[in-house]
Amino acid sequence: MSTDYDVVVVGAGIFGSCTAYNCQKIGLKTLLLEQFELGHKNGSSHGKSRITRYAHTEVEYVDLVGDAYNQIFELERIRGEKLWKKTGLLWVSTGNEVEKIHTNLKLKGIKHEVIKGTEVGKRYPQFKFDDSWNGLIDPMGGVIYADKWLNAFRDEFKKIGGIIHDREIVLSHSEISNNLFVTTNKSRYSSKKIIFTVGCWITKFLPDLKFNIEPISISVCYWKTKNESDSHLLNEDHYPVVIAQEMDLQVFHYSLPDTDYPGSMKFCYHFGDALTQDLAHPAQRSQRCIDLPAKFIQKYMPVVDGSAPTRIDKCIYTNSPDDHYIIGTIPTKNPNILVGGCGSGSGFKVAPGIGKALAEMAAGKKTTVDVSFFSANRFKPSKI
Ligand SMILES: Cc1cc2nc3c(=O)[nH]c(=O)nc-3n(C[C@H](O)[C@H](O)[C@H](O)COP(=O)(O)OP(=O)(O)OC[C@H]3O[C@@H](n4cnc5c(N)ncnc54)[C@H](O)[C@@H]3O)c2cc1C
Repeated sequence: MSTDYDVVVVGAGIFGSCTAYNCQKIGLKTLLLEQFELGHKNGSSHGKSRITRYAHTEVEYVDLVGDAYNQIFELERIRGEKLWKKTGLLWVSTGNEVEKIHTNLKLKGIKHEVIKGTEVGKRYPQFKFDDSWNGLIDPMGGVIYADKWLNAFRDEFKKIGGIIHDREIVLSHSEISNNLFVTTNKSRYSSKKIIFTVGCWITKFLPDLKFNIEPISISVCYWKTKNESDSHLLNEDHYPVVIAQEMDLQVFHYSLPDTDYPGSMKFCYHFGDALTQDLAHPAQRSQRCIDLPAKFIQKYMPVVDGSAPTRIDKCIYTNSPDDHYIIGTIPTKNPNILVGGCGSGSGFKVAPGIGKALAEMAAGKKTTVDVSFFSANRFKPSKI
């Protein structure tokens, strides 16, 4: 029996868009299905900006980031379009994270610099830390133009023959004599492989995943300077992308220049509130999502007005039990079904690398980057 497609990719967020592009690119006839209209804001991939960086506390991320940079350089070249801005990353911590990252980057031969807390303010006048803080500068860190990445991967996918159907919801999948079938509200497709890149909907879609996946509503807060005359300090030419960890309080933040809304930089608490059973944002956010970044800004960012955010947007994190991604097969599932998910708050930058790895797996090839660290097998079989 012939099949309609080599691969059906379910979900056209950044994971699915990068996966579909890479599948088609290596010669697999690919269909990408999305339940909403492209450009929707109901998942995790909307908005204008995300952070990219080599700096990670786990060394296994570094090559995936490198693969993503290479794909982006290539897309920039063929499209003649800027897809990111190199601002440098500033990572500050009161714990030993800087030491861990330094070890990882040194091992991988990635250029970086370790500085004392008091040195940070000399480089970046937006901040003031004492020497209980450590800093690391990753010069390749920068702002991802998120909406442009999404558009570029979908557009290039279509140019090389890929097919996207949006407003088509996948209702179920089944297996009949070695063929997989995907049933939607509009049609039924046969395929050799199915790749689920469904973000937080993974909890609805693969309910038999027994490990705990946590979708979280994130309040994305924006802040302006106290004085209008300092507002340039928040733009991409002056403000780095930032990760700040108050390890003693177990509070983590991240920050980006004013790419989304001119004059207001993004500064957010790296956690939030549980989504409802229907995967909707809760009616009320907890006050700590605003109070924690406000406190940090008031204490460590003298030029920024920490009294109240200028606006608050919403987005969804999907976290696995250990906060690392899931890439590949699921132990209890048909091996022709693959999953790319649990992007947590950090998956955008590596989505091209994840997409390529999934495409290579679907084609039965060895992956360019070793992604075994992200295999779902790491969760104990008794929990699956
Ligand atoms: C506030 C915030 C800040 C972040 N900051 C960063 C950052 O600085 N750097 C970074 O690298 N990452 C960051 N991330 C993480 C990154 O954005 C996510 O990891 C990434 O967007 C996840 O993409 P996804 O494709 O897995 O999910 P989604 O974007 O949610 O895509 C899943 C898609 O599947 C579709 N779908 C679901 N079910 C079905 C169905 N049955 N049929 C058809 N389609 C279906 C959905 O409609 C959706 O479009 C951040 C995330 C948030 C929320």
